[in-house]
Amino acid sequence: MSRPLIIGGGPAGSAAAIGLARAGTPALLIERSRDPHDVVCGGFLGWDALAALKRLGLDPAALGARPITRLRVVAGSRVTEAALPRVAAGLSRITLDAALLAQAQAAGTAVERGVTVREASPGTLRTGDGATLTAEALFLATGKHELRGLSRPREAAGDDPAVGLRARLVPSPRLATDLAGMIELHLYDRGYAGLLVQEDGSINLCLSVKRSRLGAGPAALLDDLARDAPRLVDRIAAARDKPEWQAIAGVPYGWRARETVAGLFRLGDQAAVIASLAGDGVAIALASGMAAAARFTAEGPAGAPAYQRAFARQSASPLRVAGTIRAVGEGPFGTLLPLLARLPGLAALTASLTRIERGAGG
Ligand SMILES: Cc1cc2nc3c(=O)[nH]c(=O)nc-3n(C[C@H](O)[C@H](O)[C@H](O)COP(=O)(O)OP(=O)(O)OC[C@H]3O[C@@H](n4cnc5c(N)ncnc54)[C@H](O)[C@@H]3O)c2cc1C
Repeated sequence: MSRPLIIGGGPAGSAAAIGLARAGTPALLIERSRDPHDVVCGGFLGWDALAALKRLGLDPAALGARPITRLRVVAGSRVTEAALPRVAAGLSRITLDAALLAQAQAAGTAVERGVTVREASPGTLRTGDGATLTAEALFLATGKHELRGLSRPREAAGDDPAVGLRARLVPSPRLATDLAGMIELHLYDRGYAGLLVQEDGSINLCLSVKRSRLGAGPAALLDDLARDAPRLVDRIAAARDKPEWQAIAGVPYGWRARETVAGLFRLGDQAAVIASLAGDGVAIALASGMAAAARFTAEGPAGAPAYQRAFARQSASPLRVAGTIRAVGEGPFGTLLPLLARLPGLAALTASLTRIERGAGG
């Protein structure tokens, strides 16, 4: 059987690579970035993601992940806090993705960095330098990025698609103390922002906003947010530097791949895109990578459709709950907050219901 090909070296691609290598079928993984890089992500790792990382042989604490035990939600002038049901963590994606890819390599995966796949079809891909590679099994793990030939439908991102923004901030001592052990979410009309402390003590700031609210860009958005998210704007002003933004457009929240063909396994955001407010995208990426590798090991390329259907079923409920929270939380009046304040435990419950692997961790 030919060597499996994996396109994309984010959490999903690396998890599949580790699973395949451990089962004695090391893959060739192609990643377009030459060096470790940060991506638009909140950096929140739920307990299911932490458990999955341990199964893949990584120790998040040894990578510097900062424990998170509390959730703070801010909407306008209202603030509420709740304990998380289990310990989560904050870790930058530059550290996480590099560690996962190194683990995949150590397990026997051949990794080609700095190579972009330009287009693919089941069984074949073509790289930017004109090479054509064929394999009986292709694992598509390009995340939010579409790949010609295997793109998600154009309408997946909806009429008013979400844009993701991320910046790293150096906090004032007071901001660092305020955010210690905390995931802080700010809700506003058509979006939300999340802040947490990552391994080097810097703050990861991530925003999701519908295109219709973004206006002329991040600076204009921040001016506008002074109206309905003044505390968020204060938080950013309290940092020691101005944000340098990374952006990703057209995030198709709620999309799931329900079908595929033999030999094509869709992983991570190419399998299911959970509303980022739930902070479970990395866990989904890891779970899908491991599930696809296990299915391939048991059934070969023919197992792809069964894997895809099973993963679509497994992710349906977390995606639905997260989508509802997003619709309510990003509504014009921050409707979620009074609910959270009135029903102690609702925050913890919703945090649990959006996990891809219920009961994971410990
Ligand atoms: C605003 C926002 C905030 C988020 N916050 C969180 C959070 O706090 N916690 C959480 O768990 N999830 C969060 N997510 C979701 C999370 O970022 C994704 O679900 C996760 O990154 C998916 O992993 P992946 O491996 O599928 O894709 P990615 O992480 O996107 O990795 C894809 C990889 O493929 C490579 N690639 C792409 N195209 C090609 C190509 N053509 N050729 C070769 N290589 C290619 C890329 O360089 C990249 O390394 C957030 C998402 C958004 C939009």
